[in-house]
Amino acid sequence: MKKYALAVLMLLLKTPAMAAATPWQSIQHPVSGAPQSIGSFANGCIIGAQQLPPDAADYQVMRPDQRRYFGHPDLIRFIQRFSASVAAEDNGEVLIGDMGMAAGGRFSSGHASHQTGLDVDIWLQLPARRWTAQQLLHPQPLDLVSADGKHIVARHWSPGVMQMIKLAAEDPEVTRIFVNPAIKQQLCLQAGSDRGWLQKVRPWFGHRAHMHVRLRCPAGSTQCQDQPAPPAGDGCGAELASWFLPAKPSASSPVKRTPPLPPACQALLDNHVL
Ligand SMILES: [Zn+2]
Repeated sequence: MKKYALAVLMLLLKTPAMAAATPWQSIQHPVSGAPQSIGSFANGCIIGAQQLPPDAADYQVMRPDQRRYFGHPDLIRFIQRFSASVAAEDNGEVLIGDMGMAAGGRFSSGHASHQTGLDVDIWLQLPARRWTAQQLLHPQPLDLVSADGKHIVARHWSPGVMQMIKLAAEDPEVTRIFVNPAIKQQLCLQAGSDRGWLQKVRPWFGHRAHMHVRLRCPAGSTQCQDQPAPPAGDGCGAELASWFLPAKPSASSPVKRTPPLPPACQALLDNHVL
């Protein structure tokens, strides 16, 4: 652990404002073995992760310098078939944001989930032309939500964006998609009579420029913990309305302590972080 502690200390001395690094960051390559997502989305890891191929006709990977482009093979396949479907609609280029790190685990900054190789952030913009390497390194998010958080910004919204969210929600391996409440509201308004897919689209804080797509636990990942299914219905009624009240749903929720790692993830850390 000494080497790691020193590396962390040096990192902290160098960049005092940076969030604390986690040991997971020091694992640069996937842990070999049959693919296994272990634990829960916000407290887990992955064995046998794969890298999303960086060169693809149907999508582009943003911030490749961060190396958050690993995931369970199921996630890689989902991104490939999803992007192929979007490309078939000819709506624009798919931009892939954070997936997971080589062995999963907690990022040093940003979200708490994305730990088991089953989560991916997909941006809610579809540029007509492929981005340059420079644009991919410094991507400019498109804020789809008004400053007061109550509705979408019409000039940033397009039928292609709605179609993209619906396409992801209709994938049988997707269990949840998180978007800003204002985006969910817009989907509720526009969905018409075909509303079954809305059940998976869940309102959450942030997510103003991207959707967060989560897959179910893969077959064979016996230590992977799925979440209960979202409540029945399209989620367009009282639950969504509660997000627009002065006291947001999480206002009263207590601060959560970080639970201990699943034993298999702790063992993985002990073996790979010296
Ligand atoms: Zn995310």
